[in-house]
Amino acid sequence: MALIKVQGIVLKQINIGESDKIITIFTDKLGKIQAVAHGSRKTKSKLMSSTQTFSYCEYVLYKGRSLYTISQAEIKESFQFILDDLYTLTYCSYITELVDALTQDNEINIELFLLILKTFYLMTDEAIDKEILLRTFELKSMSISGYMPNVSTCSICRAKDRKIAIFSIENGGVICEECARNGNHGISISPSTLSIIRFMLKTNIEKIKTLKVSDSAKDELKVIMKNYIKYYLEKDFKSLEFLDDLRQTENKGK
Ligand SMILES: [Zn+2]
Repeated sequence: MALIKVQGIVLKQINIGESDKIITIFTDKLGKIQAVAHGSRKTKSKLMSSTQTFSYCEYVLYKGRSLYTISQAEIKESFQFILDDLYTLTYCSYITELVDALTQDNEINIELFLLILKTFYLMTDEAIDKEILLRTFELKSMSISGYMPNVSTCSICRAKDRKIAIFSIENGGVICEECARNGNHGISISPSTLSIIRFMLKTNIEKIKTLKVSDSAKDELKVIMKNYIKYYLEKDFKSLEFLDDLRQTENKGK
């Protein structure tokens, strides 16, 4: 039986039978795969921690008819800190949910693999606004999976130098003032939000700590990305809804 060695991040886990699990792993060499981890729920199992959601490991696998089976695993980073904070846990749950929705089985996307890892590591960086980190992840992950929004020209008339007024989800990008006046609809976008989106798209995700984002720009970004993702992936995200509930509860307490 041919053994395959991959690096992977656990996106989700489903319990099977008494002590087994099937985990969904996003790997560097095989893309997204499902793998059985026999006995991994037994407390003495060597596979117990390496099959938890968010774990980043090196796996040795073999391929069955429809699933892979994990033979060995070595943890590279458990990302245990994600579980220590409810907000971080919700952000990262959303990231894994989004990646799962964005990817097909066996489709390799090394850029996305590296983006998830960097984003998880940046969750510990005090200098980074986590809300902005999440928006950048949304924008970059969509873009490298084939859904890059057009923010360089008007999506209707293709003019490069006209003032941008709105973001049209259906047209996949921004629309100029003139085309907006001519009856094209969308979400209003300020010049500062537009320049933030352009910055996020062309810059390494580590650099976003230099970004200063106003509350109104944050709100615009949130509405644009939420609707953009919902439209193209045809999905509502449970973790995102939970995040909104969490914020509302916190704000009521103030
Ligand atoms: Zn136009």
